[in-house]
Amino acid sequence: MASKVLSERKLGEIEEVARGWGKLLAREAYPEGPGLDVSLADMEDVVARATRAIVRGAVETMTDDQADDLGEEAACPNCGKMCKLKRKTRSLAVRGGNANLDEPVGHCPTCRRDFFPSA
Ligand SMILES: [Zn+2]
Repeated sequence: MASKVLSERKLGEIEEVARGWGKLLAREAYPEGPGLDVSLADMEDVVARATRAIVRGAVETMTDDQADDLGEEAACPNCGKMCKLKRKTRSLAVRGGNANLDEPVGHCPTCRRDFFPSA
């Protein structure tokens, strides 16, 4: 099982990958180069918007992986009965804006209540 917090080495590798994405973003935003009329602030605005999108995409993917790890059933926290899990999309504010999280939700027919399973 992966460590809860990534090592400094792994975080450094991720920064290098992201730095490469920054170069790709620059070419995507200005294929012919920005020209002399684009200010540094203009460049930062383009990249800041892209980084917020990266945060949303990464958080959505990682929480989806966690939801997959929970499986298809979970025990009702009230009575312990195993209940099928469905996915419900919830918008949640993250540092990149609003991410759409596809969260597992259980419904216990015995207790007539919904619950959010946890690890
Ligand atoms: Zn129950």
